[in-house]
Amino acid sequence: MTDAMFRILIVEDDVDLRSVLRALLEAEGYRVVEAGTAERALIEARGHKPDAVLVDLGLPDRDGQAVIRGIREFSPVPIIVLSARTMESDKVLALDGGADDYVTKPFSSTELLARVRAGIRRSVRSAERPETLRFGRLTVNLGTREAVGTSGAVHFTPVEFRLLTCLARGHGLIVTQDQIMREVWGPDRVTDTRGLRSYVKMLREKIEADPARPRILVTEPGVGYRLVIDP
Ligand code: CA
Repeated sequence: MTDAMFRILIVEDDVDLRSVLRALLEAEGYRVVEAGTAERALIEARGHKPDAVLVDLGLPDRDGQAVIRGIREFSPVPIIVLSARTMESDKVLALDGGADDYVTKPFSSTELLARVRAGIRRSVRSAERPETLRFGRLTVNLGTREAVGTSGAVHFTPVEFRLLTCLARGHGLIVTQDQIMREVWGPDRVTDTRGLRSYVKMLREKIEADPARPRILVTEPGVGYRLVIDP
């Protein structure tokens, strides 16, 4: 399936922004459906079965958070939040409510399109697990757990490897601290966010060219992390 066949639902009450988004997405070959209210959004999401949904949080009838939870009752479609709200609590609430990622207004069109592609890629590929990951100078085989860098084999501890795999399944989308800790350490967590940060630091030393300025394992302050993988 090519990108040209994917349908995107834009949930946004600002008419000008909606038409900018439509033009941007149509130029990339996506088909676009629009909704200006939460109520309309749920109707369009059921009727059109979009491949990705962009949701503004500030809507005239109900909060965008209600749209996220409403869509999640019947669909696993990738949901990307568009919002001027910069509070970490809003982001965490949206992600815990079932959103897959978050873009803060004003956003660049490159950033937005990258998130849409990542969302679609993840939903298309969620069945088939990626076997090989490539980061700048490193190739990791998730099946054999072997990693090769420019100066030979790279060894990961079991926890580092689980952390890497958990982030890799995000396909470039944000993974929250809670999701990571549940997945890497299990329900009776043996670590906290400080422990998580130290594992992230160790992992960066193995996968980043410059661990002090990470470009692969990126922090989303107060919310979580994303792994930027070469396409
Ligand atoms: Ca709005």
